[in-house]
Amino acid sequence: MAGEPQADCLFCKIVAGEVPATVVRETETTVAFRDINPQAPTHVLVIPKAHYADAAALAAGAPQLAADVLREAGQVAADEKAEESGYRVVFNTGSGAGQTVFHAHAHVLAGRGLEWPPG
Ligand code: IMP
Repeated sequence: MAGEPQADCLFCKIVAGEVPATVVRETETTVAFRDINPQAPTHVLVIPKAHYADAAALAAGAPQLAADVLREAGQVAADEKAEESGYRVVFNTGSGAGQTVFHAHAHVLAGRGLEWPPG
């Protein structure tokens, strides 16, 4: 069912504390933790605690929760002092766009110059 934890989902396991993560922020509905393979000096993932496969499913199924994730992405950027220099929030959606973990997550990237268009 939408939002329910999935036994085979890595990020659900992080939410449950079954897989360790370097958590930088947590709210009632979200967790933010450092990416295990950082692509920038700041690379934090913000996830809803509830399981939605990707950003589109999250926005359609739980719009307030999608807003919570976006707000937390902004808070991570503020905590990392990235507001002035700029930062990027990315939701890879679908394997063709590079999504490898099918639990919705925002990448927050900062701390280096970020090219546009992205690769
Ligand atoms: P995606 O490719 O957009 O789905 O992003 C998944 C991200 O999760 C990648 O940037 C991975 O480096 C990251 N990742 C995978 N496993 C872990 C983990 O156990 N802890 C933290 N980040 C992870």
